This record gives sequence, C-alpha cells and structure tokens, in this order.
Amino acid sequence: MNRPTTLRSVNALCRHALVPRDKLGELAEVASRYAVAITPVMADLIDPADLQDPVARQFVPDARERKEAPHERRDPIGDERFSPVEGVVHRYPDRVLLKIVNACAVYCRFCFRREMVGPGRGGLSPKALAAALGYIAGRPQIWEVILSGGDPLILSARRLKSVVAKIRAIPHVKVIRVHTRVPAVAPEHVDAALVRALRAKGKATFVVLHVNHPRELTAQARAACARFVDAGIPMLAQSVLLRGVNDDVETLGALMRKLVECRIKPYYLHHADLAPGTAHLRTTIAEGRALMRALHGRYSGLCQPSYVLDIPDGYGKSPIGPNYLSEDGATIEDFNGRRHIYPPR
Ligand SMILES: *Cc1c(COP(=O)(O)O)cnc(C)c1O
Ligand code: SF4
Repeated sequence: MNRPTTLRSVNALCRHALVPRDKLGELAEVASRYAVAITPVMADLIDPADLQDPVARQFVPDARERKEAPHERRDPIGDERFSPVEGVVHRYPDRVLLKIVNACAVYCRFCFRREMVGPGRGGLSPKALAAALGYIAGRPQIWEVILSGGDPLILSARRLKSVVAKIRAIPHVKVIRVHTRVPAVAPEHVDAALVRALRAKGKATFVVLHVNHPRELTAQARAACARFVDAGIPMLAQSVLLRGVNDDVETLGALMRKLVECRIKPYYLHHADLAPGTAHLRTTIAEGRALMRALHGRYSGLCQPSYVLDIPDGYGKSPIGPNYLSEDGATIEDFNGRRHIYPPR
C-alpha cells in the first residue's frame, strides 16, 4: 500500500495541508508540550479545506491549547492519588486500571491524560509489570482488570498475549477489559493474531472502543471491530462529548446507530475532563443533558450511552443525567417531554 505513515509533527501536518504555513510557529509551541500523531486512516478523513472538520478538531493541534482555563489541571481525574504501584490505578474496590503503555496511535487534543502520554514515554518495564501483577494477585477483591494507557492495542500480539496470560493466571480476576482507539484509528493493526491474543479461556474479555464521530467508523474500522465480535469478544463504546465534533443530536445519534449496527453497545458518553488547554472543545453540562434528552426522545434504547462525569481529584465517575423523575418523586417525564403523575391517581 502506498499510504503515508503516521504524521507526527506540525511540519508533517503542514506538508499534507492540514496546518497552514503561517500557523507553524504557534503550533510548534503546542506540539512541544502535547504529543501529535495522526494515523493515515484518520488523516484521509480530514477535509483540508474545512477548518471546522470534526476529525481535524480531534487531532490537529490548535493554538488555543496554549491557554489554560480556570479549574483545568495536569491530572484532571486524580489518577496519581490512587496509584498504589506504578502502572496501576485502583480507585474502585473491584477493578483496577493497568496502564501497560504510555503511547497511543493518535494523540487526541482533548486527552485527559495528555500530560502523561506521548511517544517515547515507554511502557511498564518487566519489573514494574511484575510488581503491578503482584499487587492485583494479592487482592482478591479485584474482579476486573482494565488494560488502558495510553493505548494497549498499539502493542504487538506477542506482547499482549504474554500480559493476558499473566492476568489469566490470577484466579480471582474474571474479566479483562481493554480500552482502545486502535480499531478505529489504526484498523490494520487488528489482525487475527491480535484478536487471539486477547482471548483468555475461562475469563470474559471485553473491548471498549473510544470513538467520537460517525465518520471514524470507516469500512476498515467496521471490519476490525467485526473481527473481535465474531471471535466472541463483546464490544462497548465510549465517546467524549466535544464541542464542534459531536455536540448535536444528529451527529451523536448517527454515531450511536452506526455503533449498534456494528454490534457495539454505546456505554459511556463522557463529559470532557478539565485537561489543560481544552476549554474550546468542552461543552457545558447543561448542553450535554439537553443532548441526552434529545437522544432519548428519538433513538432506540440500544443507542443510549450513560452520560458521566469523572469527578476531579479522583472521586470516580458518576452519571449526570438528565433526570426524568421529579425531585419529589411525584411525576415522571416521558420521551415526548410530557409529565405524568406516578403512581397514577
Ligand atoms: C474509569 C475508570 C474505571 C472504569 O470505570 P467503569 O465505571 O467500571 O467503566 C476503573 N478504574 C478507574 C481508575 C477509572 O478511572
Ligand atoms: S487515545 Fe486515549 S489516551 Fe491516547 S491521546 Fe486519545 S484520549 Fe488520550
């Protein structure tokens, strides 16, 4: 295939007409702070003539990233406070994040871990991985291990297979969950060996795809997802609500429908975290709730994610509505916006 490789600098973006030459200076400043990478599949989706392109907004650096808004923070969801050993975040009693790699296939401009991820940040050393697995093995309340990062699926099938085998050997861990953007942004990486590597006899493996715009679900991406589902690995999806990307009900509804058509159940719609320099991509919670209400009014129950906020400083995720039951519990709103007394009189 005669595809360009992943674009990893503002100069490379400029050569492919994704960044105007007169913006190079200010964008180089952004890129020196936050990693840049756009895979060939994603670069192909961007219309260089459209400055508001929803794919470009997610991956092309923006001068506004230099501005830190009030309340934004380096570690927006408080991972560090809950990291007992390197690579593990243990916030909820029954599940842990295991961050085996700190690099990604693409770098999202709104990333909640943007101060931690980047190329060359490396992953867990064999020694650190052993310590992390020892931590999990020593705590029987840990029922689920979530491979996260960075993006664990940038690793080779061989590497993943070895990590999965080690988790599989821990009897009290019953579920292995993988959080990834790779099936959409680098679908060519999802081959039979990679799919096989994630299967663990006796454990349930789930793959959760991070995807924000229906256009990201290309024919190649859909085929990559089908390889997981056909192999008996159920898929869920998580999306981030982003201004100018998916903050209208038609786009959001189209994304959810396309996911369900791929046998992927929408799981979470995340309110954008307070990552530094991302205010221009964040909506208000009121806007998010209005969108969720519109989604509920117009689309199948299969298309409904749960709208969640990761509470700053590590207090975990909570659903943020909208609510349909009145505060006093006396009336309930239907999908058309009409209120009913409950129980009926
Ligand atoms: C998001 C997150 C999870 C997963 O939460 P679910 O609600 O089960 O999807 C687990 N651990 C940490 C530290 C997280 O940030
Ligand atoms: S794929 Fe996830 S971790 Fe990587 S840059 Fe995007 S949001 Fe951040």
